[in-house]
Amino acid sequence: MATDHSTSTLDTAANGTFLAAETLEPLRAQLRGSLCLSGDHGYDEARTLWNAMINRRPGVVIRAAGAGDVIRAVNFAREHGLVLAIRGGGHNIAGNAACDGGLMLDLTPMKSVHVNPEKRTVCVEPGVTLADLDRETQTFGLALPVGINSTTGIAGLTLGGGFGWISRKYGLTIDNLLSADVVTADGKLVHASDSQNPDLFWGIRGGGGNFGVITSFEFQLHPVGTEVLAGLIIHPIAHARELLQQYRQIAADAPNELAIWYVLRQAPPLPFLPPEWHGKEILAFAVCYNGDLKQGEKAIAPLRTLGKPVGEFVGPMPYLAWQQILDPLLTPGARNYWKSQSFTQLSDGAIDVLIEFAKRLPSPECELAFAQLGGAINDVAVGDTAYPHRDLQFLVNIHTRWTDAALDQKCVAWARDLFNALKPHATGGVYVNFMPEDEADPERVRAAAYGPNYERLAKLKTKYDPKNLFCRNQNIRPA
Ligand SMILES: Cc1cc2nc3c(=O)[nH]c(=O)nc-3n(C[C@H](O)[C@H](O)[C@H](O)COP(=O)(O)OP(=O)(O)OC[C@H]3O[C@@H](n4cnc5c(N)ncnc54)[C@H](O)[C@@H]3O)c2cc1C
Repeated sequence: MATDHSTSTLDTAANGTFLAAETLEPLRAQLRGSLCLSGDHGYDEARTLWNAMINRRPGVVIRAAGAGDVIRAVNFAREHGLVLAIRGGGHNIAGNAACDGGLMLDLTPMKSVHVNPEKRTVCVEPGVTLADLDRETQTFGLALPVGINSTTGIAGLTLGGGFGWISRKYGLTIDNLLSADVVTADGKLVHASDSQNPDLFWGIRGGGGNFGVITSFEFQLHPVGTEVLAGLIIHPIAHARELLQQYRQIAADAPNELAIWYVLRQAPPLPFLPPEWHGKEILAFAVCYNGDLKQGEKAIAPLRTLGKPVGEFVGPMPYLAWQQILDPLLTPGARNYWKSQSFTQLSDGAIDVLIEFAKRLPSPECELAFAQLGGAINDVAVGDTAYPHRDLQFLVNIHTRWTDAALDQKCVAWARDLFNALKPHATGGVYVNFMPEDEADPERVRAAAYGPNYERLAKLKTKYDPKNLFCRNQNIRPA
């Protein structure tokens, strides 16, 4: 039962636009999905994001059931001068998926995943999570390179780039995007691919939600698993320096089928780890080999010869299981602040900084998650997609996470200090999907997130969204 708002005035925009609630009624009547106001069933569910640091109250939420609802919502926001926020999986750390006042367009009800096993393609709606996608594609022994936390939304992940365990073999998520349906700022549904609206197709491959609302993605899939060779090898942090120095060569020699990431954090109570190590600072290598399992054993052998691990759990396992293995450490509802730095090489100086900060984590849930990139990701030219960072070998996510609000200042300060200390060793670029709210500075978006591709993006923005209707993102300003 919807709350009766008919006599109220609705603050629908942080920019001072007020609407009589009855203005919404014709819109409500046209929707296949639902329209929720504060107090309605679904309102809080829609506005609650993965990061509990974000608590925004939209003036109105439209929970879209299809492209028709998206068009109606975009037209309504534009015609009434409302701030418009778009929600896919709700995981973005900056929390742009929700707005104070304004109109929040929640795409989570749009959950269709359709695999074509012969063509090895999949069509995905924007409310789909990585778990939804992996479940369908693995039914046919296929997969798309996506992220490492299964509750993440495919929409936001794709629009920023998207990398995970099999990206060194098959590229970024966007490198496998074949086409998309996009509702543009004028409320038109257009198809974007290499042959139709190729400029828009270029822009949505890394340019975030700046150019329109994607109502459907079509991706190329690849044969994967269904078993991969994967797991964790855990060492005391005391040996991290020499281990990471040796890791450098092992990572450089690794075939594209293998990704070796590492994490510096306090050890969770893993069943294969002796209890005396639980809660102690550790270096954990996380490996995933996607290919022939015997070849995989050979590929990870050099890593296994390193040092004396205090715990190891590596073996064949379903790709689906591996895709969800880190979920318990990344559940929604905690307070989170992220910073990230990117690297073309892992210098001794960077290793020292990482270890120094890992020894004084401000909360037991914080971690430094270090991804190995390279491989097929770097086979694409800088100008081929809006995502420009095609020379990286590594990227660290300073994943600061805690539950007690009293720790806010301490945790954020730790992350910023570490970010600054890593600066001399990093490229200065930033992955747009890892930018927190306070990195919204246009100059950082221009120089660090998009660099050489920014000017072209700004021209595209002027063509497709000259009034910047889609502004709740890492924003590209119209030229
Ligand atoms: C726990 C966790 C793990 C992660 N791991 C990885 C990883 O391994 N690899 C990786 O690459 N990234 C990873 N990320 C980052 C992730 O890619 C981004 O947070 C991404 O923005 C999440 O997408 P979403 O749809 O869930 O988020 P949302 O917050 O819903 O969306 C983010 C933004 O994308 C835009 N948007 C969303 N949907 C649409 C649409 N249909 N049309 C137009 N614009 C839209 C909007 O601007 C929105 O504000 C991770 C994030 C988390 C929280």
